[in-house]
Amino acid sequence: MSAEPDGPEDRLRRFATIWSRAVFPVTSTSLTRPELEEQLLPLARRLSEALHTRTLDADEGRAVGAALVAAHCTDPEALSRTLDCVDAYLVLYCGEDGDQEELRVRAARLQHAMAAGFAQALRERTLAEQEAISAAALQAQGVVAQALHASEARFRAVFEGAAIGIGMADLDGNILQVNGALLRMFGLSEQNLRSRNVKEWTHPEDAPQTWTLYEELVRGEREHYHLEKAFYRPDGTVLWTNLTVSLLRDADGEPQYQLALMEDTTERRLLNLRLRYEATHDALTGLPNRTFFFERLEKALGAGKGQRFGLCYLDLDGFKTVNDSLGHSAGDRLLVEVADRLQACTTAPGEMVARLGGDEFVALTTGPDTEREVDELAARIMNALVAPISIDGRELTVRGSIGIVEGPAGERGPAEVLRSADITMYRAKSAGGNRFELADEEADARAITRHGLTTALPAALDRGEFFIEYQPLVHLGDGSVRGAEALVRWLHPQHGVLGPDRFIPLAEHTGLIVPLGRWVLEQSVRQAREWRERYDDAGPLRINVNLSPCQLTHPGLVQDTVDILERAGVEPDALCLEVTESALIGADDDLLKPLRRLAEMGVDIALDDFGTGYSNLANLRRLPVSILKLDRSFTQSMQQFPADPVDLKIVEGIVSLAHSLDLAVTVEGVETGAQAEQLRILGCDTAQGWYYARPGPPERLHELALVDATG
Ligand code: C2E
Ligand code: MG
Ligand code: MG
Repeated sequence: MSAEPDGPEDRLRRFATIWSRAVFPVTSTSLTRPELEEQLLPLARRLSEALHTRTLDADEGRAVGAALVAAHCTDPEALSRTLDCVDAYLVLYCGEDGDQEELRVRAARLQHAMAAGFAQALRERTLAEQEAISAAALQAQGVVAQALHASEARFRAVFEGAAIGIGMADLDGNILQVNGALLRMFGLSEQNLRSRNVKEWTHPEDAPQTWTLYEELVRGEREHYHLEKAFYRPDGTVLWTNLTVSLLRDADGEPQYQLALMEDTTERRLLNLRLRYEATHDALTGLPNRTFFFERLEKALGAGKGQRFGLCYLDLDGFKTVNDSLGHSAGDRLLVEVADRLQACTTAPGEMVARLGGDEFVALTTGPDTEREVDELAARIMNALVAPISIDGRELTVRGSIGIVEGPAGERGPAEVLRSADITMYRAKSAGGNRFELADEEADARAITRHGLTTALPAALDRGEFFIEYQPLVHLGDGSVRGAEALVRWLHPQHGVLGPDRFIPLAEHTGLIVPLGRWVLEQSVRQAREWRERYDDAGPLRINVNLSPCQLTHPGLVQDTVDILERAGVEPDALCLEVTESALIGADDDLLKPLRRLAEMGVDIALDDFGTGYSNLANLRRLPVSILKLDRSFTQSMQQFPADPVDLKIVEGIVSLAHSLDLAVTVEGVETGAQAEQLRILGCDTAQGWYYARPGPPERLHELALVDATG
């Protein structure tokens, strides 16, 4: 039978022993301590099992709480000790094989469920007790009517022995008799109490109907009423009770006495307040937490006409660095100090500050005049952060970024307001931090679509929402189509066709550019093979594909490209990769290595948007580049006639330098015949632009190339 030393059964038993030792002194049972332990053991087992079920069963916790009441552990202190015991020992003795973090969370939730079950059972038990006493009192009515000091044995026994307070008064409120429990609750002697009148016992927190119900009862218009009521004790402290008052009638049915039954709920109230406090406050800083803040914001936003709100959303700049370099405990102390300073900034009525989590705080101001107040509040907060914070002998400078949202109540919900504040805070951060910014609906809308697009990107690739358009590259000398540039588009289910400027930066930011870029390369290379197979007599058509800077540093670039070309059966010289000039400015050899490898294999590398990055022309020699793509801005300056002679000279200079370095020159953005002619005279080799064709489906190139070949 006996478990192995230190087996789970042993540890469970030890937990039950500790538990029984903790609560035994405050129970009102006739059991011995070991007998109590036997009663607690099955409860301990239930807790242990609940701790290990994947989805925590709160009913189990509530059942254990109720079982405590059944075992006569009804004193609130017994609950308090039980919770402490579960907190300190349950995971220790019953949770050695499991994720400790997870088990602690479950143990905390079990405690809440136990407290709820305990309170519920206690309330039910008291009601049952009150009912029994009322029944006994009613049975004894005849006797009570004859003699004030009722001699009916059964009534007396219940009256004196009851754990709840009982008092009797006449219809004018003069107290006639009370039991021991009631005296103990009030901390009064019987003598003191008997000279009192019920109607003296008002308290500021009396519910509005308290005294109307009383009047109705003594007039004989109601038989009983039930209330939560507070009383002052002679020492000034407050006693909270569950109060039931019943009317006692004489043999003829005439109202004669009132009987009050009261249960002391003071401790339970305190416990509830503590639980509520813990659920609504941040343990580290003591500030209200996100839950509490949401409640308050909701209330502020639901306020009536003429009421406004102002919200400051603060995020510390560079807090992660503090945490990483000085450790979490230093980080925690910094947060506590920041919390104290923020608290000092929000002292006016209608103002509050809360911690949302991590290094994010919010301050709220409400009232009719928040337009001015919220600016002042933000300025006070920035000011409060100016003085350095001293931690471990170091003086840390703290900076923060604040997003401000201000507006009339009744227009927006809390989630929307908080999101707007969050977005605005990020705007302040990306403008360099250490500042506050005011929310602006347009900026919000932009950020929200940006956010929406970013989150939709990965699924878009899986769902095949991207497609490629091709724009022909034309030889300036003979006008023949030499190839095309692949330009990616996104057919978004809501926003329609989006150009690359809308989503390429987001894809770069999230890293999706690597799989997306690979997909573009694959499609384009396959397209090139198709062209080559069908229109070989039109001269070998080539495909230009854009590469993002992130793709350049991706280790798989060379291998992926080789694989794609091989799988499609396309020669490397059919492919040209376009890299922007800015991506290569100051590039070191490591960055250039993969490009060089590709160039050695025969892939052309073009320097895209050339002329926008102010690169050192002498540098061109170092780069594994064979084509310069002159930026559209050069072409644009040739639109007016006659073209600016200086611009012409510059282009002429670039072209001759490029040619002397053995680089071909392509121009972008050719929109008119005059431009094309000018660029041809200046010596450019190929051109691209609306004059020839806008980017379009691959079939369009078939037509152009075909016309070209036959015409
Ligand atoms: P880019 O490589 O410089 O592409 C040329 C851009 O100029 C294209 O814009 C094209 O539609 C536009 N364009 C062509 N001819 C004319 C003209 O005559 N006049 C004017 N005003 N514009 C003209 P698009 O398609 O919006 O592409 C913008 C940029 O997006 C591209 O600039 C390229 O850097 C990037 N991009 C496009 N596709 C991809 C891709 O698959 N991967 C990567 N990484 N970037 C891409
Ligand atoms: Mg390009
Ligand atoms: Mg370009």
